[in-house]
Amino acid sequence: MSKIPLVDLHAQYETIKPEIDAAIQRTIDNTAFILGPEAKKFEEHFAEYCNVKHAVGLDSGTAALHLALLALGVGAGDEVITTTHTFIATSEAIVLTGARPVLVDIDPRTYNIDPHKIKAAITPRTKAIIPVHLYGQPAEMDPILDVAKKHNLRVIEDAAQAHGSAYRGRRIGSIGDMACFSFYPGKNLGAYGDAGALVTSDDELAQKIRMLRDHGRTTKYEHEITGYGYRLDGIQGAVLDVKLKHLPEWTDKRRACADYYTELLANVDDAIVTPYEPAHVRAVYHLYVIRTHKRTELLNFLKEQNIEAGIHYPVPLHLQPVYKNLGYKKGDFPETEKAAQEILSLPIYPELTQAQMERVVETMREFYRKN
Ligand SMILES: *Cc1c(COP(=O)(O)O)cnc(C)c1O
Repeated sequence: MSKIPLVDLHAQYETIKPEIDAAIQRTIDNTAFILGPEAKKFEEHFAEYCNVKHAVGLDSGTAALHLALLALGVGAGDEVITTTHTFIATSEAIVLTGARPVLVDIDPRTYNIDPHKIKAAITPRTKAIIPVHLYGQPAEMDPILDVAKKHNLRVIEDAAQAHGSAYRGRRIGSIGDMACFSFYPGKNLGAYGDAGALVTSDDELAQKIRMLRDHGRTTKYEHEITGYGYRLDGIQGAVLDVKLKHLPEWTDKRRACADYYTELLANVDDAIVTPYEPAHVRAVYHLYVIRTHKRTELLNFLKEQNIEAGIHYPVPLHLQPVYKNLGYKKGDFPETEKAAQEILSLPIYPELTQAQMERVVETMREFYRKN
């Protein structure tokens, strides 16, 4: 049986090879390896896509989160609220500024930060909230914005998994003060290496981020503040600009895959919970995450049948060894801990065929017949 991977970047490259190869060659011909015209074009197109005034191209999504916090002046002694159910980069960026991550449990249906639990986490030191649109499912932004406004906090969207998703008709990336995107190769819009972007409609924040990403430069030889070497590579900008044109079509295909999985999974096993997408959002299914019982056994059974599934994420932030010093313990965030035991990510990518999805689901059916 041929392998069904969690994500198949080669299948995607095959569909756009001539465009990609030409874009990379163009960048080499111009020797525009850092920022440059291709990256600038992508920034303009990505800002338009996100319905914001500015996109600043960076070398990773983590850099975007780091600079977003720095641009707001977040640092030692401050606290930033985020979800405990996310990739480590979200909290890492907070720690990099010297601030303290304050974690909050999730809504078990959406896996995103529970907006009603944010208020209890606010202290006089709180400066910002970072909601994460996990798996491509928008966080519940209206109540988050309400609590932020009431307590004078800024909102930074971690949109690393949510390119093109929407909340109540608004594009993800245009809702908070700033939003951070990752173009890690496996993301919905992925570069051919590390890359990221920060988007905002705030002119001052955008200008500050542009300085911070490029050694605090105002001109070639003048440096106004201490910055970083966090710039977007020219080749990545060129690749991303090609791929952005295809993103709407790829997103439709991901959504069609999700619908088909949900249909196929309807009568496999009563314990399976398929993704919940509220009517007021448009999810982009970076991952298709179900809940099951006997999760680890199922994962291994799929692997034996050459089907790659994943767990995003098996260890919540509050139980990570690196955060022992934050003082959290097992039992602090029960919804996340329960989800971490049950979630399973099935293969999903735009080029995934119906026959492949049918094989995944039939293999699951076989597992539950035996177990
Ligand atoms: C991928 C990811 C990041 C970090 O992006 P990099 O480009 O890998 O630095 C941040 N947050 C979330 C939720 C992610 O999935």
